Amino acid sequence: MVAIKLNLQRIVSQLAKYYGQPGAPITTDPFELILLESIAYLVSDERREEAFAMLRKYAGTRPHEILAASHDDILKATRLGGMHPEQRVSRLREIALIAMNEFEGDLKPALRLPLPKAKQTLRKFPSIGEPSAEKILLFTRSYPILGLDSNGLRVLVRLGFGEEKKNYSATYRSVQEAINDQLKEDYGWLINAHVLLRQHGKELCKTNRPLCEKCPLRKSCAYFQRTFVSVPRAVATGS
Ligand code: SF4
Repeated sequence: MVAIKLNLQRIVSQLAKYYGQPGAPITTDPFELILLESIAYLVSDERREEAFAMLRKYAGTRPHEILAASHDDILKATRLGGMHPEQRVSRLREIALIAMNEFEGDLKPALRLPLPKAKQTLRKFPSIGEPSAEKILLFTRSYPILGLDSNGLRVLVRLGFGEEKKNYSATYRSVQEAINDQLKEDYGWLINAHVLLRQHGKELCKTNRPLCEKCPLRKSCAYFQRTFVSVPRAVATGS
């Protein structure tokens, strides 16, 4: 197989050229980022943001506003966010309650804790695992770390950063170790890298049948080399 020297910064530049530079995130507030994670399920990013905008409009996005809002006003937003909207009304209320009871309604002091403690603290919220906690710490510009969602993780594993392990957490750690010395200490770059890797995973590097023939990264992709280059050559040589 052809040895490939992976360069994350070049990869992010190639993605930015292909998809265009990402726009500003809809929010950089830690509590709103948690709401954004929980307001929708299995819908597009556009639909998720519409649901979030609806929540802002009809219920508000501060913990005390969510707790004071009527069930129906929150439901207007969660209905836009896909299946089981009633469950997500309860989920958003639960999130608001945790924010009030454990953080006095303000999560910003938690972001200033040492990194492991800050992650652990954010994980008190439902649906917030290590990747989401890292994303929140990145988007709030608290720590310059590249939190990855499942799409971004899949892209990096296929490219050849780290390796697929027995479970998601171990794979996540393997990729984080592999990219660690290639990160820029630049929040703008890291946020764009997160968004672009996610977009690439959703649009071309899909879970099933990635559209490698259209991919701007294929020349430096281990999966592509393995699947479309090395194997056919090996077969041809052996025949
Ligand atoms: S070449 Fe295929 S597997 Fe590799 S990054 Fe592109 S879409 Fe994903």
